[in-house]
Amino acid sequence: MALRFTSLGSGSSGNALVVENGNTRVMMDCGFSIAETKARLERAGLNPSDLAGIVVTHEHDDHLGGVAAFARKHAIPVYLTRGTAQWLPEGFPAVLVRLIDSHTAFAIGDVSVEQFPVPHDAREPVQYAFSDGDARLGVVTDLGCVTQHVVDKLSGCTALVIECNHDIDMLMAGPYPVPLKHRVAGRFGHLDNAAARHLVECLDRSRLRHLIAAHLSQQNNKPALARAALAAAATCEESWIGVADQLDGFAWRDG
Ligand SMILES: [Zn+2]
Ligand SMILES: [Zn+2]
Repeated sequence: MALRFTSLGSGSSGNALVVENGNTRVMMDCGFSIAETKARLERAGLNPSDLAGIVVTHEHDDHLGGVAAFARKHAIPVYLTRGTAQWLPEGFPAVLVRLIDSHTAFAIGDVSVEQFPVPHDAREPVQYAFSDGDARLGVVTDLGCVTQHVVDKLSGCTALVIECNHDIDMLMAGPYPVPLKHRVAGRFGHLDNAAARHLVECLDRSRLRHLIAAHLSQQNNKPALARAALAAAATCEESWIGVADQLDGFAWRDG
């Protein structure tokens, strides 16, 4: 068995990522409609019934927005913190809810799941690392600032999907209202390219085989800028850095 993973799409209009080990497939977040999620899964060669669970990071619409309807329709258990669970719609079947705390690792079938708390403007946000016992994929898509705890959890990963939300100059010169600019750039907002670079520089990268920029703002960032920032951090060719796309995500990669 070996870990592999694919993104169904990433950005402020919706996020979903699938991790597979053996016969277990776990979806992380779902910010798409039922039909859109099904179509994106099919693109990755999957059916909704292939999913053993959905793990959720936090209640923002681009992550939780599609979870309840999709989970209910296909009877898929949803793993989330108590703070995030408060945002499930009324009447969501309790039998599908799996409450997790933000520190205690667990497993869904063959996929080991380790969640960790992150600074972000949500009730009880977490991000995740997934493992098959050897390969380890760390994902952070909504991170206001880098904490030592995040550094510890992402160190030693074989694959990383890291938020590169905005270029600070593009954000500040761009069309967002000033309060929104401050929210996005704040310590409970989103990582900019420079902060993502700093995060990767802080990590133990000795086992790293995949480094992918994710959650790029379509208004306030460019793939080339994110790629350059992460390539500088990892001291590698820019072509080696992946970029998760809002529409296409990225194709399967072996962890
Ligand atoms: Zn988000
Ligand atoms: Zn968010």
